[in-house]
Amino acid sequence: MKSYLCLMDIHSNIKELIKNLPSEVTLVAVSKTKSNEEIMQAYEAGQRVFGENKIQEMAAKWEALPKDIVWHMIGHVQTNKVKYMAHFVDLIHGVESLKLLKEINKQAVKHNRVISCLIQIRIAEEETKFGLPADELESLLLSAQSFSNIKIAGLMGMASFTDNIEQIKNEFFQLKTIFDKTQNQLPECTILSMGMSGDYPIAIQAGSTMIRVGSKIFGQRNY
Ligand SMILES: *Cc1c(COP(=O)(O)O)cnc(C)c1O
Repeated sequence: MKSYLCLMDIHSNIKELIKNLPSEVTLVAVSKTKSNEEIMQAYEAGQRVFGENKIQEMAAKWEALPKDIVWHMIGHVQTNKVKYMAHFVDLIHGVESLKLLKEINKQAVKHNRVISCLIQIRIAEEETKFGLPADELESLLLSAQSFSNIKIAGLMGMASFTDNIEQIKNEFFQLKTIFDKTQNQLPECTILSMGMSGDYPIAIQAGSTMIRVGSKIFGQRNY
């Protein structure tokens, strides 16, 4: 069955989500594959932070939509595409290599901006190719200090795709522990991005400060 949300639903979904969110938690509305019209419904409900996982799609939406929207890149970033978002992106969630940091810094310098980044940590037990192994974080943070135009603003992680709530909880708490340790050394590291439509209440319990919610606002995605 094809799931279809009418425009009114987006508006009330946003209102409902914001109403029940602790004030220290930022909602990133994940609008990947969604139309400008759908995004504007969320915008009119007061939402200003949107997340996309494809750089060119995000750039096209940035061009077309109101300039007080704040755009977050939440997907895997290819080094050769950083240049398409360097002039406007507000936060890059999925940074996991020195090579990528180097390119982001280079593009940030070009545009005379400081770009905020989150380091994505691999916390899921399941096999995944994304995220930095936790034991490599310290050396990456050390190297990152040499980049003049990058701010390491926090950490990001994704739990396993599973019904096992205990496992999801464990993975989020594991990331929270790493986050606390990191923040002790780097006080500007204030953002912990974890939690999606299916698991954000657990993530908030575990100490998330930023959730990335797509389908619960916009309905199922048709790829
Ligand atoms: C798509 C996506 C989300 C949102 O997923 P939903 O389950 O639709 O809320 C969050 N984070 C990342 C990295 C994503 O790619």
